[in-house]
Amino acid sequence: MLTLEALKNQLTAPKHIVVTTHHKPDGDALGSSLALYHWLKAKGHTVDVIVPSDFPAFLDWMPARADVKIYTGDILGNDALIADAAVIFCLDFNSLSRIHAMEDAVRNASGVKVMIDHHLEPEGFDDYRHWDSDAAASAQLVYDFIANVMNDHQSITADIATCLYTGLMTDTGSFRFQTTTPQVHAIAADLITRGARNWEIHELVYNSSSENRLKFLGFCLLNRLEVLPQYHTALFSISRQDLNRFNITTGDTEGLVNYALSISGIKLAALIIDRTDQVKLSLRSVGTFPCNELSKKHFNGGGHRNAAGGNSNEPLDKVVAKFKSILPAYNELLNQ
Ligand code: 5GP
Ligand code: MN
Repeated sequence: MLTLEALKNQLTAPKHIVVTTHHKPDGDALGSSLALYHWLKAKGHTVDVIVPSDFPAFLDWMPARADVKIYTGDILGNDALIADAAVIFCLDFNSLSRIHAMEDAVRNASGVKVMIDHHLEPEGFDDYRHWDSDAAASAQLVYDFIANVMNDHQSITADIATCLYTGLMTDTGSFRFQTTTPQVHAIAADLITRGARNWEIHELVYNSSSENRLKFLGFCLLNRLEVLPQYHTALFSISRQDLNRFNITTGDTEGLVNYALSISGIKLAALIIDRTDQVKLSLRSVGTFPCNELSKKHFNGGGHRNAAGGNSNEPLDKVVAKFKSILPAYNELLNQ
């Protein structure tokens, strides 16, 4: 592990720095990455943001999103950048498996690896860590990193504030999850003071659906929602055919699982989707039900207690059947 002094030394003279985040970046992943990108660039560094995959269209307005490199778009070129970097910032993930095809390149890179994250049980690939599993978002930790670790609050520009506000807003479900502490609101207020146009960010992220996406939502609510009252559980299972029928792209299914959770009395909600490479699960819960434990134990996943994800290489119907077969083991928790 690197000391804070050693890290500060690394960042005093201009360096080549890579910033990366998890596969299918969400608002927090991309917001944190771009916020740090703007800050590092302003400090004179040469910075490349390299992400493992594309990101949702509802984030395609963020300041400097055009500078983001998609790893698979130029594997050789991006491998060279990763190998050359003096410092690699790893944001919003704590296990290198979460960066998929980039895993080996980052693991083998000689640059100093700095992890800024809020997920439980870090793997330990990092040389320096700014980590707090109680943080509402990685964006909160990037804010804290710039303002308090680097003592550079005055360098938070409107662009940085916009990126961080987006991360905070999306990871707290618009400031309504249990993680939304007074401190989170205080940071949000400061970001607005520094130029984040909060109302505009809400519009850009939440009111940018395509007609197809809304029709897909209606279709899923009507035809793909199953409620299991005895387990206070509701789930959507979505086939590849469903995705193709509505021309669904990255990000279009974001938030769908919350509709299942919005049913009165439901404690556990699941969204099970047949993606091209594998079946992906999104789990959400209210109260003490540990989505991350279920996901880790049965679906190669992890995350937070109330929001976790996982995956499986089995066919969709088998995954759905497996999910249902697991519920009796959690009967007591689900019926508390
Ligand atoms: P989502 O359901 O929105 O994809 O993810 C919810 C939470 O679970 C996020 O905090 C995310 O980091 C985590 N998560 C999602 N998929 C996976 C996965 O495959 N593995 C692990 N370890 N965490 C995941
Ligand atoms: Mn996050």
